[in-house]
Amino acid sequence: MISSVRAEVCALHAELVRYRLVVWTAGNVSARVPGADLFVIKPSGVSYDDLTPANMIVCDLDGAVVEGDLAPSSDTAAHAYVYRHRPDVGGVVHTHSAYASSWAARGEPIPCVLTAMADEFGGEIPIGPFALIGNDDIGKGIVETLDGHRSPAVLMRNHGVFTIGRDARAAVKAAVMAEDVARTVHLARVHGEPVPIDQEDIDALYHRYQNVYGQSKSIVDGVPAR
Ligand SMILES: [Zn+2]
Repeated sequence: MISSVRAEVCALHAELVRYRLVVWTAGNVSARVPGADLFVIKPSGVSYDDLTPANMIVCDLDGAVVEGDLAPSSDTAAHAYVYRHRPDVGGVVHTHSAYASSWAARGEPIPCVLTAMADEFGGEIPIGPFALIGNDDIGKGIVETLDGHRSPAVLMRNHGVFTIGRDARAAVKAAVMAEDVARTVHLARVHGEPVPIDQEDIDALYHRYQNVYGQSKSIVDGVPAR
């Protein structure tokens, strides 16, 4: 099981590069190991080109290294905090993607003004607190901001994006979609004020996308679609 999660987490890092969400060694993906109090995360400071399943790091839910020769990502404590406090979460992603982080720099939530946002996020993408790295403050900020919120993404103020998912692939998708809508709403703002969507329409879009959309009960890319 651990070796398949290592391979999955390594492969998903390539998606961050493909969608241009990261530069240099910034950003990270982690995945919970099903049936164990463990998760797999990227090593710290290693080029995306040099990531392999074998150099992924296995940590316990306190963020302590269980398997791996390299130091884990500097964001490991934040990921561990999320896994400890959200048993429903199977994957966590962090990026400094440009458009989404520009909203974080202003401390401004991204308003739900696109049907694609209602689908994926069920409302605005919220702002989390300013938090320094090195203790549980980032993890606590993620969990507290997303508590009771439909959005799987949070913009940590002056920092960047954290996303959660039932698995790591869903968290990567949320990170890709967060950057996409951050960019589009930014572009809309250049020429005026975006038009809000009525709450009942947001609710209908979210419900349809989360429950009806896609290849129901079929398998796409090895993962059940929703
Ligand atoms: Zn960061």
